[in-house]
Amino acid sequence: MKRSHECRAAIYPGSFDPPTDGHINIIKRALKFFDKIIVAVAINTSKQTTFTAAERVRLLKEILGEDPQLEIDTLQHKLLVDYAHSKGARVILRGLRTFEDYEYEFQMALANKQMAPDIETVFMMTESQYSHLSSSLIKEIVWLGGSGRGMVPPLVEKKLKEKLKR
Ligand code: ADP
Repeated sequence: MKRSHECRAAIYPGSFDPPTDGHINIIKRALKFFDKIIVAVAINTSKQTTFTAAERVRLLKEILGEDPQLEIDTLQHKLLVDYAHSKGARVILRGLRTFEDYEYEFQMALANKQMAPDIETVFMMTESQYSHLSSSLIKEIVWLGGSGRGMVPPLVEKKLKEKLKR
């Protein structure tokens, strides 16, 4: 049971390269259930990203605007469970789209549970209009000259077009 002074914070970790309408939908829906959402942009040196971590943070801040319930941060070469502890958060929030997501997420959730039994992974199902959206698919579409409308916020589409200019 929640004690009155306790703040229910959830960490929403991910690459967000770039943030999509699917990510934004998860964040907005989760804000109704948690006191605070900490969006943790992963910095992974072994993974080539289109946008730098600073750019991804800036995009998320511009899209989501100022909100005392929201924090946009970077996750630097640290175990997610250690990061959650350092933030006083007991929940890791993840989105689920496909069966493929499930297999990977299941493994990660169990590993995190083994390392930190006090932390729960909570999954939110995508809404059907976002179920096919992934950052990599949208990058491919924009790279090939397609529109990102209804897939990414207009600012992301603009920045993607600048980045992927051929
Ligand atoms: P990661 O590399 O950690 O998977 P992503 O940026 O691809 O980072 O995704 C971050 C989280 O958002 C993951 O939990 C992923 O399943 C979820 N997610 C991504 N796209 C969608 C979507 N369209 N609808 C719901 N959840 C999504």
